[in-house]
Amino acid sequence: MNTPLSRRDFIKAAGLAGLTVAASSPTLRLLRPSQPQTELQAEQEKIVPNICMMCPAACQILVRVKDGKIVKIEGNPKGPTNLGKICARGQAGLFRVYNPDRLKKPLLRDNPAQRGTFQGFREASWDQAFEAVASQVKKLISEGRVKEIFMLGGWPTCLYLEPYMKAFADTIGTPNAIGIPGGACYFPKAFGWSTALGVGAHSQILTDYENVKYLIVIRRNFFGSLSVVHGTRAGRKLGNYKLVVVDPRFSETAAKADVWIPIKPGTDLAFLLALIHVVIKEGLYDAEFLRKFTNAPMLVAEDGSPLTAGTEGGKTKYLVWDLAQGKPVKHEEAILPALEGEYNLDGKKVKPVFQLLKEKVEAYTPEWAESITGVPAATIRSIGIEFGKTRPAAVDTGWHDPKYKNSVMTWRAAAILNALVGGLVKDGILITGAGSIATPPPDVSEESVMRIWGTKQGVAMASKGFTFQGFLDAILNGDPYKVSMLFMFSTNIALTGPDATKWREAMKKLEKVVAIDIYPVDAVLYADIVLPESTFLERDDPLYAIAYAPALGFQTRVAAVQPVYDTKHLVDIIVGILRKLGDDYYTKFWVNLAKALGAADPNAMAAKLKDAYEKNGVRGIRAVQASARNLDPAKLESDGLIVLKDSSTLRKEMINKALAGQLLTPTGRIEIFSFALNNIKAKKGYQPYWDPIVAWAEPEVLGKADGRQTFYLTYGRVPTMTHTSTADEPLLSVLTPDYKRMAWINRKVAESLGIKKGDKIKLVSIANGVSVEAVAFPTDLVREDTIWVSSDFGHTSEALHYTKFGVPYHFLTSVKADPVAGGVMSQEVIVKVEKA
Ligand code: SF4
Repeated sequence: MNTPLSRRDFIKAAGLAGLTVAASSPTLRLLRPSQPQTELQAEQEKIVPNICMMCPAACQILVRVKDGKIVKIEGNPKGPTNLGKICARGQAGLFRVYNPDRLKKPLLRDNPAQRGTFQGFREASWDQAFEAVASQVKKLISEGRVKEIFMLGGWPTCLYLEPYMKAFADTIGTPNAIGIPGGACYFPKAFGWSTALGVGAHSQILTDYENVKYLIVIRRNFFGSLSVVHGTRAGRKLGNYKLVVVDPRFSETAAKADVWIPIKPGTDLAFLLALIHVVIKEGLYDAEFLRKFTNAPMLVAEDGSPLTAGTEGGKTKYLVWDLAQGKPVKHEEAILPALEGEYNLDGKKVKPVFQLLKEKVEAYTPEWAESITGVPAATIRSIGIEFGKTRPAAVDTGWHDPKYKNSVMTWRAAAILNALVGGLVKDGILITGAGSIATPPPDVSEESVMRIWGTKQGVAMASKGFTFQGFLDAILNGDPYKVSMLFMFSTNIALTGPDATKWREAMKKLEKVVAIDIYPVDAVLYADIVLPESTFLERDDPLYAIAYAPALGFQTRVAAVQPVYDTKHLVDIIVGILRKLGDDYYTKFWVNLAKALGAADPNAMAAKLKDAYEKNGVRGIRAVQASARNLDPAKLESDGLIVLKDSSTLRKEMINKALAGQLLTPTGRIEIFSFALNNIKAKKGYQPYWDPIVAWAEPEVLGKADGRQTFYLTYGRVPTMTHTSTADEPLLSVLTPDYKRMAWINRKVAESLGIKKGDKIKLVSIANGVSVEAVAFPTDLVREDTIWVSSDFGHTSEALHYTKFGVPYHFLTSVKADPVAGGVMSQEVIVKVEKA
């Protein structure tokens, strides 16, 4: 059933938030829970804190409940992430609870031939469902095949419940678990930043939008995507800073910018290298900052090895050339460390890192960059000079970016440019609270498919397990070994996995597929066992670090209402399965969970967690976590959060840490010479993708689009939709009509191809031959060699009724990994355009 809502329906539906619309409205019938599991008690109005889960931005919200029903969602004014604001998607969150398309009871199906449809399911009790899962797991354990189990999470698992999934996997004994593959999301960007700063995920570093005076934004659209979090901060200061947006398409952020630079896709690195060239050439860098905060003065020999004076207290002491004393000394003992020149040390020629950087970027002139990026040299030069002369200036920290083979080096170049003007730690970019308490990603097991596949592909960071693409080879070809059972935790891999057609084929080949989700999205249709999860508004949650805010603190969710249907919290689902496996597994889980949560004494913590959970469920787990951090559980439940440090405290702390050499990099300083990349070079030989300083590294697609028949494919979010999290939202569908399957194509190009606005077109991937349908939107606001599509929000599931699509571009990408971080290279795609 396809149920488009008219604007009039939308207004009616909006009134439904107060549950006051006449019952005769067809819209109302759709949105009212048809068979509530629990008869809700009439009660006074209450306001309950929670964390929005309509996108990964984790805004703090307050949920207004009247007579046992949610009537409104508002921003939590105490929330440091979103400053009391929420977006349309956040407002629409309450429909997630009352959406009749939800999964309402556990479902079982015996005939794998029905995978891919919503046919053949029968309702089951939770006991039956747990038994069905446990019996397959027991079978695989008894046959010595437990590592054939693969657990895959979506972003809700990654952001919130990954430790629980990992503890579950560890307990049953499979090495194959990943809570959203970072290589599909943020890891290449995060690793690029971390080569300079030690941290780099979007929960760890944040542009200082309050104070920045010059801001360059690449590969990001913060006014049009996850807009509340950083867009609010950037938006309220618009006019106080110069905004330069580098984007092949005129995005919502470009629309608010002072300068829009329609760059050739994948070449931002060349643009940044030329800016570094200009800043150095014009002498606009902050030499004092480089001397004090970075390893720019560190001496490096001709063979690329840094010079040291041994170790003290386990820390290597690096040598610099002290101009004041005219000799090499330990960095911290130097009065005036040299940044430039060449010195002779024990017969070796040595140079400071900054000198090497200067020599490296000598060739990266604006004219050189113009030939690659299509941006006029004069524009690049003038931006470089303005950026270098303005303080604080910053290149924005970005968010998601697995797009090109050179993503890691691109973000490293952004970090170096920020460092040159003193914009890291001191001003411009702030290391946030979440960064300070985050632990680096652990290595995955040597046996895991992720690691083996990543290693075979030559991915330098394969040990981190961010390459999940290999599971396709494992399922389809048994390489490196067979994977036969899949657990999906809130992930719609059948729509958003790279080369999604192959994922659909692969899921049909598995022995058993278990889906844990709220909706019967595309991937759920491939399951044999469906375990319905409670929505974020129906559940109490454990303790989480506050994310994406210039603050350090903790937050949680408090259930606004009881589950409307027969659904459970993910933690209760995991525990239910483990109980069926037996007491040993159940007991072992709490130890593994304590380890995953970082407990110093896992056994002691495990006993507390188990006891608290048995008495109070997930609330009990939260209480144990809170007590371990000396947080008041009552305050957490009333406010939803506790802020421990604000941005100015964090700023001071980070400055002191950087000065004391205590950042999370190998040297403890900002690294203009990256030890992480130098280690990769030592193991794998030199490639520009892991140059220890910085270098031009080509994207695979460069020069492969002619702008007549072939085009670079780019994609982005739209303000009212998020991935598949908003797959089945009636109100948001009304707000998003113009983006439905829209493909931006340059107006002149469209004319030459005889394509008019609204024409159906096919985008055909050169790499895998797959095509998807789109609707042409000819415009001058996109480059002639570029097609832009709205991201693949929506669904193709027959079990959902509010059908709204972006263009499912994941069908067009192929399963390849970038050579450093294992990113899926989602924009290394050339498409042909044909009339449908
Ligand atoms: S940006 Fe909007 S959808 Fe995302 S968490 Fe915040 S309020 Fe929710």
